[in-house]
Amino acid sequence: MDLPFEPYRIKVVEKIQRISREERVEHIRAAGYNVFKIPSAAIYVDLLTDSGTGAMSDLQWAALMSGDEAYACSNSFADFESTIKDIFGYKHVIPTHQGRAAEGMLFTVTLKPGNVVPNNIHFDTTRANVEHTGAIALDCIAPEGLDPAVEGPFKGNMSLVKLAEAFEKYGTERIPLVMLTITNNSGGGQPVSMANMREVSTFCREKGVPLIFDACRFAENAWFIQQREEGYREMGIKEICREMFALAQGCTMSAKKDGLANIGGFLCLDDDQWAQNVTNLLILREGFPTYGGLAGRDLAAVAQGLREVLDSDYLAYRIGQVARLGKRLDELGVPFLRPTGGHAVYLDAKMALPHIPQAQFPAQVFTAALYIERGVRGVEIGSLMFDHKDPDTGEIVHPAMELVRLAVPRRVYTHTQLDYVADSCARVMEIGPRLRGLEITWEPPALRHFTVKLKPVGGGRMIAKG
Ligand SMILES: *Cc1c(COP(=O)(O)O)cnc(C)c1O
Repeated sequence: MDLPFEPYRIKVVEKIQRISREERVEHIRAAGYNVFKIPSAAIYVDLLTDSGTGAMSDLQWAALMSGDEAYACSNSFADFESTIKDIFGYKHVIPTHQGRAAEGMLFTVTLKPGNVVPNNIHFDTTRANVEHTGAIALDCIAPEGLDPAVEGPFKGNMSLVKLAEAFEKYGTERIPLVMLTITNNSGGGQPVSMANMREVSTFCREKGVPLIFDACRFAENAWFIQQREEGYREMGIKEICREMFALAQGCTMSAKKDGLANIGGFLCLDDDQWAQNVTNLLILREGFPTYGGLAGRDLAAVAQGLREVLDSDYLAYRIGQVARLGKRLDELGVPFLRPTGGHAVYLDAKMALPHIPQAQFPAQVFTAALYIERGVRGVEIGSLMFDHKDPDTGEIVHPAMELVRLAVPRRVYTHTQLDYVADSCARVMEIGPRLRGLEITWEPPALRHFTVKLKPVGGGRMIAKG
């Protein structure tokens, strides 16, 4: 039977409610067509993010109870630190309340205005934290990673050509570090191959520039390497992780993803001076170096989550569930980025709604329609999130792709609920020609997609009467 079997049984359940379409129309209007502002009680299947939305295991809940709340040098920190050192292998482990805090502190101590940070594709908080220091966040994804139609095993790979060009254009002195996001969230949750990591690592070593992983979905990436890359089929997930991490000099991590926890993050570094500078800042902003903005029980839950995420039965089910959602969408004729990624399916809104120009946010229109029609919440990853000014010309540049991300929370929804999601996407395709574009009525200076307000272009309904 071709089903991604769940390697667990359900011990606790939480009731969810379906409200009427009329109520949903009210909610989306009140939210300024921004699904971030809809109350979760008004959502049936919530695929906004896989970040911090997972279900913890019995052992994680037990770890919460036995968390040690000592201010300094708690048992829970000792467990956290030794578990991370065992998997990641870096010298310094610095706890933070989330991934972006790790990014913010790393960039504050390493970047100056005018510096450049290459990455395969910067995640939105990473880009914002780089730019906040006055540095430039540069995407160097290999060309096939930008083509939604190409089936490739490792579409998260970095282009060595683009990376070399960046060093030529800006000079090594302006590039204090190179990043590699595994898996590549903003490019479709696509994995990076060990071969590509090795090439990037060798290149960086020759330039004398540290390589830092954005490691949020490191276990999912390791699973893809085990399944798809020559020579890794017989290797365990943990061994693959150790081989990956040995190629870099540190990582930023959100424990809300492959930490299988609801909050938490950390920064790992080999460099003593960088670690010292970050720790000084940590005490100022997050907390003492052995808790970094987290309760002892959170550290304990993350440590347990990191041990569980290495289970290949879990990873086969997890990535299999996402692949199965892709297969259903395919059968229903809904276009999406090929192949499905580790944590999400990314619908191709440019192809789904060809009549809506990028300046009118087609992926946001699809997202709003999916909520109105069926109560399913996805998230736009397109012009609303990634429009930016060209640093040389000052003109607005739209991103290459207009995507609606359906991120699957870990260990939360059943196959039936995801079948309902696929059917709901098909419904939006059906009414596609009746959908109209959106325009911005208010936006903040940074990370606008979280709080932006929109309205249908020219006023009136977003979905014309059929
Ligand atoms: C979620 C995420 C982050 C930021 O982590 P938070 O815990 O949300 O602050 C950084 N990079 C990637 C690739 C992510 O997916």
